[in-house]
Amino acid sequence: MLALAKIAPVTGGIDFVEREPRQPGPDEALIEIRAAGLCGSDIQIWKWPPHLAKRVPVPCVLGHEGAGRVAAIGERVANVRVGDNVSLESHLFCGKCYQCLTDRAHICVEKASPGVDFDGVFASYVTVPASILWVNDPDFPAELGAIMEPFGIGVHAALEGTGVCGLTVAINGCGPIGMMNVAVARALGALKVIAIEPNPLRRDTALRMGADLVIDPLEDDAPRRVIDATRGRGADVVIEYSGQLAGLHNCIEMLTIGGDLRLCATPTRTVEYDFTVWKKKRPTIHNINGRRIWSTWVRASDLLREERVDLKPILSHVMPLSEGLKAFDYVFAGEALKPILIP
Ligand SMILES: [Zn+2]
Ligand SMILES: [Zn+2]
Repeated sequence: MLALAKIAPVTGGIDFVEREPRQPGPDEALIEIRAAGLCGSDIQIWKWPPHLAKRVPVPCVLGHEGAGRVAAIGERVANVRVGDNVSLESHLFCGKCYQCLTDRAHICVEKASPGVDFDGVFASYVTVPASILWVNDPDFPAELGAIMEPFGIGVHAALEGTGVCGLTVAINGCGPIGMMNVAVARALGALKVIAIEPNPLRRDTALRMGADLVIDPLEDDAPRRVIDATRGRGADVVIEYSGQLAGLHNCIEMLTIGGDLRLCATPTRTVEYDFTVWKKKRPTIHNINGRRIWSTWVRASDLLREERVDLKPILSHVMPLSEGLKAFDYVFAGEALKPILIP
């Protein structure tokens, strides 16, 4: 089978390779992939920063956002059956460590991900531990199944801390997950949703996803606009997706005193911070990583099944896996929101 892989430990270094599907071990399942999402993390693997150069075993089939049909299972697997329509949770968890035993499997100490630590979903088949499979309704579309993983981050971020119901929510950075978070905040009863994003295509999409106000942080003083839009209070909840140093400072500035700051992106550089600002603002900071297993998946599925959230505006490019390299180009050009690859 054709698989899209990191083939060389350099910037770029991504191409197609020929792979054989691997028969599942006792606790594994073989999944026939029907759709896979191209993620910012895949773009990071293209860019090849030091922390990924240390982590990704080359060659490695990329992709951690996938959905498909269970084609075969190992002898000890009981949570899925052959033929099930499944999505993949991308965080492998051991089920035994302190974090797993205290309802935090999403930050398991043994955490590993397909497409990063071992072969992923940019192929016709993938073999994974059955423990990371979520069973969708039989008729749930594969394109949506493939983005349950990033969608779940938006759902997780919206439900954490004070939640969003009745509150003003500012979403800083509207990549695909930020945009999905706009729709989730709307669906969960936010009073007002403000989206901050420099890319015009993404700002338009944020409006289509239900934002009340969009701000271009390069043209406008984003904290000022948010404070003005909240009767001088600042936002109750600020969710940070930009990963930018300036963005992070803006987030704290636009937050109301004692508000909720939820960090989804990781700044790529060391951040210097003046804690006298902190003493004044007293934010509660939530570090959002992945999805709570499986409570976030339950909520995420409900939102889609009941059609409270429409993710179609995100699915800008649904294309054959064989054109996967083009999908990277579209993302680099800022033209694609969330390319979906169909093997
Ligand atoms: Zn991802
Ligand atoms: Zn664990």
